[in-house]
Amino acid sequence: MRLTVLGCAGSFPGPESACSAYLVEAEGFRLLIDFGSGSLSALQRYAGIGAVDAIMLTHLHCDHMLDACTYVVVRRYAPGGPLPPLPVYAPPGAAERISAAYSADNEPVDDVYTFYGLQPGTFPIGPFTVTADRVNHPIETYGVRVEHNGRVLAYSSDTAPCEALLRLAQGADLFLCEASYLDGVANPPDLHLTGGEAGAAATKADVGKLLLTHLVTAWGSEASTVEAACAAFTGPVEVVRPGARYDL
Ligand SMILES: [Zn+2]
Repeated sequence: MRLTVLGCAGSFPGPESACSAYLVEAEGFRLLIDFGSGSLSALQRYAGIGAVDAIMLTHLHCDHMLDACTYVVVRRYAPGGPLPPLPVYAPPGAAERISAAYSADNEPVDDVYTFYGLQPGTFPIGPFTVTADRVNHPIETYGVRVEHNGRVLAYSSDTAPCEALLRLAQGADLFLCEASYLDGVANPPDLHLTGGEAGAAATKADVGKLLLTHLVTAWGSEASTVEAACAAFTGPVEVVRPGARYDL
């Protein structure tokens, strides 16, 4: 499978990147995981405006889902007629959240999206075997493990340290893990990871490679985050960039 990073800015769009959005492809099927602010632009730049067969929203914070609202226009009002409804795997309430953000009169969006409520478990999406589990974040949030042909991509979504994250990442070839905060600072509890905590999770889960994402440029220091992650994990560590592709 192939991972393409569309957006990787943490919490709000950064100077160099849209918010979280990751395209995962195999056998011609394209699963978009998260659809954060600004990432519809990146989708067009790096993949194509229609290059989506299914969407998964790991949680309903703006920086992980807001462009699913603007994408309604793309699908509903396409020249030549509406595009077929897209499956959307998301926590309960996603339909209402998207329709409320899309229009002031809460216009339904079920002509554009077919919603499937996420819950902990393993299920197929296209050619992928997907495992979702609740992670440690203030609203209902799912970390994700995506498997295809014996290869494994794990994605933390937004989370503070938790056991579910370690289970999802166990033995993953690629571990795409958030690192929002700096180590050694009094960060809010039960919200996000630091670089050191991402590295520690990578070590405990025995992953092949750690991809750091969701760094908050305005609050942090990439060099410090990487240094802390490398101090806790001896395997390869990389900070992802918009447009970066990883084949696994
Ligand atoms: Zn969040």
